[in-house]
Amino acid sequence: MAESRTEISNLGEFGLIKRLNEGLKNNLPESIKGIGDDSAVIDLGTEFGLLSTDILLEGVHFDLSFFPLKHLGYKAIAINVSDVAAMNGVPRQVTVGIALSNRFSVEAVEELYEGMKAACKDFNVDLVGGDTSSSLSGLFISVSVFGRVAKDRITYRNTAKANDLLCVSGDLGGAYIGLQLLVREKQVFLADPNMQPQLDGKEYVIQRQLRPEARMDVVYELAGAGCIPTSMIDVSDGLASDLLHLCSQSGVGALVFEDKLPIDEQTYMGAVELNIGPITAALNGGEDYELLFTIPQSDYDKIKNNPKISVIGYMTDKKDEVLLHTKGDNRVPITAQGWN
Ligand code: ADP
Ligand code: MG
Repeated sequence: MAESRTEISNLGEFGLIKRLNEGLKNNLPESIKGIGDDSAVIDLGTEFGLLSTDILLEGVHFDLSFFPLKHLGYKAIAINVSDVAAMNGVPRQVTVGIALSNRFSVEAVEELYEGMKAACKDFNVDLVGGDTSSSLSGLFISVSVFGRVAKDRITYRNTAKANDLLCVSGDLGGAYIGLQLLVREKQVFLADPNMQPQLDGKEYVIQRQLRPEARMDVVYELAGAGCIPTSMIDVSDGLASDLLHLCSQSGVGALVFEDKLPIDEQTYMGAVELNIGPITAALNGGEDYELLFTIPQSDYDKIKNNPKISVIGYMTDKKDEVLLHTKGDNRVPITAQGWN
């Protein structure tokens, strides 16, 4: 009898994760939260531990023809720290798994590590272990991070409430526009190696792609302001996709105002140049690693003067109705384009 075969593309990333973990349940009393949030949550007694893993694969997540190894090392740590930040936690230790082909010299791997060390210093984490292997097909990096958070400060994805204000740190769409510009310059170079990259005035968006920051600064500033978000997620797949997670897991809807979306001027100009709608870039471009979170309206005064935080809308009691209020006063559903 032929075994049935299901294509992974039929399920998509989230469908696959769900299917693989069907029937899996946590048996240990300290496993507080398993799959479904930015980090797993472990009860350590006086506080919660946070645990998360992210992988970066050559050809899928990065192209070494324009991605400096040092930046790649930094990014590998930063995106993991971001998942701890998204729980309102503080990162403490990381372990690093790498698989290398003989294409890489010792000096090249040292560069990768330079970036990792710089990120460990910036985010005050210790690199405490990992694994090293050979690879037949390019560079593979897997980082796991351990973090901590006080039990009364932890912030999940599934606890947003109707009427909460929806906030985002920094600005959106930059990493995506940076990537598109790098890809375009690579094509130009491949067509004519005498051409030099035209990236003047685009430093910010390039940096957003190549050297993202985890927003630990925002985590600390929220704490300093006495504000504990009611829910939080980091924006790794794009505002639309990550807001839909926040809403579906919390059983609420959201109304986002187009004219409140924070878009940097370089993102805007780059999008226009590339014939991409700036709003599309802000909604669906991934890899910004900003924090998307909700706060009670009564906390508005605590964040309103923080230039790093934009209030972009509010949550509603209309479950899964996630709408964009456009500049033309229309309301259209926000849909995820996702990265399957
Ligand atoms: P993030 O974008 O925050 O890193 P993901 O979208 O990668 O989160 O993952 C969503 C959830 O699914 C997380 O809770 C993650 O731990 C879990 N997950 C992802 N891949 C697997 C897997 N292969 N097995 C078990 N859980 C997974
Ligand atoms: Mg995340």
